[in-house]
Amino acid sequence: MALKRNKNLQQPGRNTKLAARVKGQQMNIGLFGGSFDPIHRGHLALVQAAADRFSLRQVLFVPANVPPHKQKHPVTAFVHRYAMVALATQDDKRWVPSLLEAGAAGSDEGARLTANYSIDTVRRIKQTLKKADRLFFLIGMDAFKDIATWHEAQALLSECEFVVASRPGFSLRDVAESLPEPVRPPAEVTNPFHKQAATGDLVLPGVTLHLLGGVQQNVSATTIRTTAAEGKPLGRWLDPRVAEYVRKMGLYRKGG
Ligand code: ATP
Repeated sequence: MALKRNKNLQQPGRNTKLAARVKGQQMNIGLFGGSFDPIHRGHLALVQAAADRFSLRQVLFVPANVPPHKQKHPVTAFVHRYAMVALATQDDKRWVPSLLEAGAAGSDEGARLTANYSIDTVRRIKQTLKKADRLFFLIGMDAFKDIATWHEAQALLSECEFVVASRPGFSLRDVAESLPEPVRPPAEVTNPFHKQAATGDLVLPGVTLHLLGGVQQNVSATTIRTTAAEGKPLGRWLDPRVAEYVRKMGLYRKGG
């Protein structure tokens, strides 16, 4: 095993140790972040498709410990979102729940550890990888369209390859136009692609995007929370263990 030791990644309880390397072999690792409030079948379908296509040895599911004031709705406590991720990832040994963005919520050391930006998380993971390893940042088109507004977006794009789950209604031009200005191709280059479905690869200086078509499922965590508040069943969207957890803990109930 030749993984470099990194103190932050190896803290007891932060369960971010990467998979054991087969001696001398290059590894493909996926990183999938989100609020996961709750984790649902759309998330799992994206990861499954990306893992199959890019032979991912491991995918880190990284729930973000986002402060409530930054959200449109109050986010469920980190501990519940993390628990649901842990339940939903049980069946596949490649899926790993991660505390990398837990901040103080996942720390024995109180508030000293704060929530990370994606770029910080990516850099921390890359410290544990070898040069030949490939890190894939998995993301849905809904989130990718705002990538230009992310902290150090250009650096993030250059640090890893992106796998974007495209969805009907988004063209190749939409994908290219989402990029931060310095790496965005000029309009005269992207305009001809306004009707072309967002599939295939888009490789530009400092940006590698792999577009996965046919993955996006018609489900969102918002719909699930609304449905739960109406007391309706959630089974078709959630892993049964997650659905049971939501029920037991009374998550998303009206006035809850
Ligand atoms: P919300 O409805 O609360 O905004 P969400 O369902 O979009 O939540 P997030 O946790 O915010 O879920 O998303 C994490 C990642 O999963 C993002 O990259 C998002 O684009 C992607 N994603 C969300 N829903 C789907 C889906 N149905 N299919 C594929 N990817 C999805």
